[in-house]
Amino acid sequence: MTRRFGGRAVVAVVTAVVASGCAGGPPRHVPAPPPAERIPEEDESRDVGPEIPVRIGLHWEGREFTFGSDGSFVLSSSRSSSLDGSRLRATLVAGDADGEFHVVDEEGSAVWQGRGPLRVEARGSRHLRAGDLKVRGSLEISARQDSLFVVNVVPLEDYLRGVVPLEIGPRPAEDLDAVAAQAVAARTYTARRLEQYTSLPFDLFASVQDQVYAGIEVENAVADEAIRKTRGMVLADRDGLVEAFYSSTCGGRRSDIAAVWPHREVNGALRGGSDGSRGREWCRSSRHFEWRESWSGAELSALVRKHLGVVLELPPGSVQGELVDLKVVKRGPSGRIAILEYRTESSSFRVPGDRNRWILRRSDGSILRSVLVELNVRREGGRVVEVVAEGRGNGHGVGMCQVGALGRAEAGQAWWEILRAYYPGARVRPLRSGDLPPGRDAGA
Ligand SMILES: [Zn+2]
Repeated sequence: MTRRFGGRAVVAVVTAVVASGCAGGPPRHVPAPPPAERIPEEDESRDVGPEIPVRIGLHWEGREFTFGSDGSFVLSSSRSSSLDGSRLRATLVAGDADGEFHVVDEEGSAVWQGRGPLRVEARGSRHLRAGDLKVRGSLEISARQDSLFVVNVVPLEDYLRGVVPLEIGPRPAEDLDAVAAQAVAARTYTARRLEQYTSLPFDLFASVQDQVYAGIEVENAVADEAIRKTRGMVLADRDGLVEAFYSSTCGGRRSDIAAVWPHREVNGALRGGSDGSRGREWCRSSRHFEWRESWSGAELSALVRKHLGVVLELPPGSVQGELVDLKVVKRGPSGRIAILEYRTESSSFRVPGDRNRWILRRSDGSILRSVLVELNVRREGGRVVEVVAEGRGNGHGVGMCQVGALGRAEAGQAWWEILRAYYPGARVRPLRSGDLPPGRDAGA
């Protein structure tokens, strides 16, 4: 059963979302651009990608959620009721393990109650409000145990419009090819991760757990053009879609995926390599290209006690005492730390690669920018008294270097050339139904 509702204008506070990813402009040095090349795969059909609905988790913790529209919209489910008004609040019924929830209007009058999933669709050219976001597509609301789940069901290409501007930042038109490379990476990442969470009713979190997504309010013309010109295109190798990781600044040396995440297999397209020649690295203009951090022994001991046990998933209280030594046991091929040993007064711990960033935090509490770092440890009286870190880059360094991509675009490289540089051996081709989980092709 389906009911239509006439909507009044919704007054909602839209939270500004700070762009993540890279910072800093493109490099000033301009290597000779490679010759213009027509992308050979360009003529293949692009029939699958744009139509795929993806399921984005907007809300997964908490018992209440506000939604609505700036126009009329439709609520539908196996059980429905009607309301007047466009700002609604879904609330999980207290103590109901079966996931029953109700929806009330602005006056608090109950307008719907049931177990869902409740589908919410805007009519005509109107869009929905979901919490602080304005979104394309529809919403699906359901409940399990003590949480409401709110899913934005949105076509893949529309989803990317709310992702790409956040992942690479707002960019001017001359950066279009870097933004286009970002669009292909984000599209590929998304397609590979459909149905990754078997116990959740969505494909991707709208957060850093997957890709930050903020709906219509962050869309911009350059990102829209980048998405349009790469419509449906993904990165693949002979094993199928590439797991298209990317990070802000590689510091001149990209990491092998297995060096960052030791449990991962070495993957052809995600192997390490240099990003330009020495002294002419493509990401050299990044403010994170070279950096320095320092801690007193007491500061570092406190960080180790607070974070090391969490990172290694040890029982509480496992890490005690002051830090007596800090030693790089092994480095990976890119020069990144592969194993770092922390010795405290009571025991010693070995922490793999990138995980050390969550221990060696900066003074503002943010994680260390990268493990492409030299640690100068000063010890006195059997304890560490000072550590100075001199590092390069920001992020895990696997896959595309975003600031490097901006530098390459400014030097005239096309988006597919940028992708080939950062995902060696991969090719750009249209997304095919065979790339997707069963039942997830167009319209599913
Ligand atoms: Zn780089």
